Amino acid sequence: MFEGLTSNLKNALSGLARGGKLTEGNIRDGLREVRQALLEADVNYDIATSFIERVTEQAVGEKVLKAVRPDEQIVGIVHQELINLMGPVEPGFSFKPSGITVIMMCGLQGSGKTTTCGKLARLLKEQGREPMLVAADLQRPAAIEQLKVIAGQVDVPVHAESPEGTNAVKVCQNGLSQAKKLGNVDTVILDTAGRLHIDQELMQELEQVERKLQPDQVVFACDAMTGQDAVNSAKAFNEALELDGVILTKLDGDTRGGAALTVKEVTGVPIKYIGVGEALDRLEPFHPDRMAGRILGMGDVVSLVEKAQQQFDEEEAADLQNRMAQGKFSLNDFQKQMATIRKMGPMREIMKMIPGMGGLLDTNPDVDPGSEMKRIDAIISSMTPAERESPELIDHSRRRRIAMGSGTDPSEISRLVKDFNNMAGVMQKMAGMGMRDKMKAMRE
Ligand code: GDP
Repeated sequence: MFEGLTSNLKNALSGLARGGKLTEGNIRDGLREVRQALLEADVNYDIATSFIERVTEQAVGEKVLKAVRPDEQIVGIVHQELINLMGPVEPGFSFKPSGITVIMMCGLQGSGKTTTCGKLARLLKEQGREPMLVAADLQRPAAIEQLKVIAGQVDVPVHAESPEGTNAVKVCQNGLSQAKKLGNVDTVILDTAGRLHIDQELMQELEQVERKLQPDQVVFACDAMTGQDAVNSAKAFNEALELDGVILTKLDGDTRGGAALTVKEVTGVPIKYIGVGEALDRLEPFHPDRMAGRILGMGDVVSLVEKAQQQFDEEEAADLQNRMAQGKFSLNDFQKQMATIRKMGPMREIMKMIPGMGGLLDTNPDVDPGSEMKRIDAIISSMTPAERESPELIDHSRRRRIAMGSGTDPSEISRLVKDFNNMAGVMQKMAGMGMRDKMKAMRE
């Protein structure tokens, strides 16, 4: 996500720290580079220029120049201005206190609209709501079948009937009556028609759906990978339909970042969620502060902890803590932990959320932490249960057998066992400590 932007911004801002004493002149030069980085990220010219004007005004002030680390102050100002550019936003949608909340999803063909309907239904269900999907994209015949399949995958009801001669408004109305009949449904998500380009016929159809169905929320699925084009379509849809929110899709494939940075500024419509992968669980609430941190390569610890909380089971964690304290943490436990971490998402993305790690990955582009974990997993899987519980059993011949089984080298088995023993020792010590001592132990 945003690799190009992050490294260009880092270069521009670290240039400020390198140049010795900061003066108004070299601050202006550095910020010109920041503007260039924004333009290369596909931020439109006017927005990039006024952004830099706001930053410059604060950065050349007395307070910054007299600060102990003016370069850090400037990074802080850029961070805050990025937050202001993308926010503010109330994450999530508001729902009616009773009755059915209708969410109308619209967007261009291929933007990820249908997939996003499924992702949203899944997320709302997780939050305890009872969503239902309605397939009203009669434009792309495969979309109806696709939504049916997705509804099955996320286990929510779907209305996917479109007899000959029907139209989008009728399908939505029938969907809504079916939802009422089902009784427990509290949210209906309408997957409306898309086109390759904005045209009048499409807008008329969508306006009709909006007029007749009076949705509580109109949401635009916006393909981040198409940059300014996506922002321009968001603008056109907003003029016709008064959008309540944008869901930015395919952010995982967006190296530039222009749409994320400017859609709010151009349209006034906030980003509510971001799509970060094809799978149906890859939808996250949008937080401008966390996103600004990620863009500047500062990591995003808050999201990391939240992701971890979603995957870890509290009881299991307590049990693990006990086993660690008693020195019983085994290779089996280690393998289970790795599997849990892998469920949090692609390893490179996860590591980038840890402050400082992003830079390390940038300077070592060939390192793939995900494949390293897979190797370790393969090694442990090639051990017998007894070896996993008591790695001291692993002698020369066992090492060779494990290496053959996992397609690795015997020296890697020795290294893994050694690393594991060190780690288990540290864990045993830490498990018995309070938080303050743990932090101290980690620093030592
Ligand atoms: P629609 O025509 O707008 O309904 O688009 P689809 O929902 O069929 O999505 C088009 C393609 O984009 C599909 O291959 C999806 O899997 C993919 N897609 C949707 N959202 C994301 C996302 O957040 N990340 C990635 N990488 N792909 C996505």
